[in-house]
Amino acid sequence: MNFTRILCACSLLAALSIPAAAQTAPATGQEPALPYSPSLNLSSMDKSIDPCANFYQYACGGWQKKNPIPPEQTSWSVYGKLYQDNLQFLRGILEQAAESKDTSDSTTQLIGSFYAACMDEPGIEKRGLKTLQPQLDAVSALQSARDLATLLARLQLHTAGRRSILFESGSAQDLDNSEQQIAQVDQGGLGLPDRDYYTKEDAKSKETRERYVRHVQKIFELLGDNPETAEKNADTVMRMETAMAKSSLTQVERRDPYKLKHQMELSGLIEMAPNFDWQTYYRELQYPKIALLNVASPEFFKHLSAALTAEPLAAWKTYLRFHVADTAAPYLASAFVREDFEFRRKYLRGAKEIQPRWERCVINTDRNLGEALGQAYVRKVFSPQLKQETLQMVIHIEDAMETRIQGLDWMSPETKKQALAKLHGIRNKIGYPDKWRDYSFVKLVRDDYLLDVQRAAEFEERRDIAKVGAPVDHGEWEITPPTVDAYYNAQMNDINFPAGVLQPPLYDAKMDDAPNYGDTGGTIGHELTHGFDDEGSQFDAKGNLKDWWTKGDREKFDARTSCVRDQYSSYTVVDEVHINGALTLGEDVADLGGEILAYMAWKSATKDKDRKPIDGLTPEQRFFIGFAQWDCTNDRPEELRMRAQVDPHSPSQYRINGVLVNMPEFAQTFACKQGQAMVKPPEKVCRVW
Ligand SMILES: [Zn+2]
Repeated sequence: MNFTRILCACSLLAALSIPAAAQTAPATGQEPALPYSPSLNLSSMDKSIDPCANFYQYACGGWQKKNPIPPEQTSWSVYGKLYQDNLQFLRGILEQAAESKDTSDSTTQLIGSFYAACMDEPGIEKRGLKTLQPQLDAVSALQSARDLATLLARLQLHTAGRRSILFESGSAQDLDNSEQQIAQVDQGGLGLPDRDYYTKEDAKSKETRERYVRHVQKIFELLGDNPETAEKNADTVMRMETAMAKSSLTQVERRDPYKLKHQMELSGLIEMAPNFDWQTYYRELQYPKIALLNVASPEFFKHLSAALTAEPLAAWKTYLRFHVADTAAPYLASAFVREDFEFRRKYLRGAKEIQPRWERCVINTDRNLGEALGQAYVRKVFSPQLKQETLQMVIHIEDAMETRIQGLDWMSPETKKQALAKLHGIRNKIGYPDKWRDYSFVKLVRDDYLLDVQRAAEFEERRDIAKVGAPVDHGEWEITPPTVDAYYNAQMNDINFPAGVLQPPLYDAKMDDAPNYGDTGGTIGHELTHGFDDEGSQFDAKGNLKDWWTKGDREKFDARTSCVRDQYSSYTVVDEVHINGALTLGEDVADLGGEILAYMAWKSATKDKDRKPIDGLTPEQRFFIGFAQWDCTNDRPEELRMRAQVDPHSPSQYRINGVLVNMPEFAQTFACKQGQAMVKPPEKVCRVW
């Protein structure tokens, strides 16, 4: 498990939710290709809408009408569609790999085996619970709460990268010394998406809890329990998780890095949570020597320790038995897959149908062996020229940031100096890793999908554990090359743009500069601004948690971010749910700063060019339409409701309109007047960077 502080452009959830119309994949043997769609599309607009009344609808209304959410999706967006195109493309690669007889190409053999094992539905059906049985048996053989440490270490090894069982653990960069890797433990172990699901008292939250208990019961029934036993067991799981949730930090608390920093030696953790056998746990996982350890959420571990003696052994077995089966459900026979879909994607997120098997298999190959699959992807879609062009744009945006910092009227020269040092310290990572992950230790079989998933998880877990005490690898990526997303990592102080996010209709080499800067320029500016949002700004040029601000400047900064928080908190997500402006603050500040930087950089990069209208739109209009069209989206209400609790990004329309109301350049471009919805009174305009 990794705990680096990642702040991303779009939503990780969106990347995971995968869009998808059931197009036909290229037949095996054909060379796959990505389809082209332009980054500024006139037919995606709805020109019947006044751009000064609702710009998002003006720029995206046509797209929304033409792109209903496919039944197997929880939302549908420009990012999502592109990701779907990537999946189709990767499907072609994987189908070829699965058939390949070239045993000298170990990477192709690896991804081909994983995909083939996943696609073997009859084999998976026949195997039933056989692969999971040793883990279930180990749970039932548990003799005492003290023996939990050994068992848990083994269970976690095989579920890494998925939902954690009981808690999260792994390596992390030291918050005080980003060049040092230390051990870390963090809260986890919940079956619902967030701790608030267990504590909120509104009718919808109560309904969700009742529905979850039915899901837990169903999993127990699938394991062979009779309905009464299954019901009793489900109540036990819910009781234990509720207590864990109450001792867990909230999403908003977790945005404060100081609330997550509690460094100690291993003896400190042993003292804090004495009823868990930590030494055995770490020995079982073969950790290198632990000199320093961070306990991200101490209250959680104090609770855990108390619960280890307060709860009977049978209750612990019940809790573990459920999570062993529930985390494996997507990789088991159809009855488990169906139940997992019914609760997690249908009830919680609104999908109407399950994704086709090939799509789930491509996604899981990407998740488990992403840097093996990614090699074939970048070879085909990411030329050195594209890398050069997009890197050039990054440099233009960074130059704009430098100008912007120097020109800020509210910041003192001392803080500016530090801000510039931080800006100059940022590493730019474009497309894919310079050095690919070595998967030669991963041994796969073609006739046992769950076993392959477990082995891939174990590889990642061991790779993560081995980092403790080792030097930091600045070339490492947290997301795979085909991912349609980008991120800033505050402890690495780097911005990362995988090949997947630098394709049309986002970055479009065939298009004029204006929409490219509005869209991809804005994304680059967004990631860059994360280094300076309410959270990122607490880390210095080296990625250490260190205050580099004068007191007065910090107060002015806070007043400016409050303006953004209050603005977004007033927006409605769905029904009675509002944006939690404290949760989305970092992303909202990054959206605003990103677009201001993109606009400046575009003007400066094209100052000697003849900027002419195209298709009846001025270059400025094309810039703003290009911006809005990066995020044309349709969301299901269930998805919006879930994201409002767990996703730090605001819903799409506010990510566009919420930015533009703060940009006088926008109002000027579309001749919007005071009093119209897309124009704020000057004294209410928010600007941070
Ligand atoms: Zn972001």
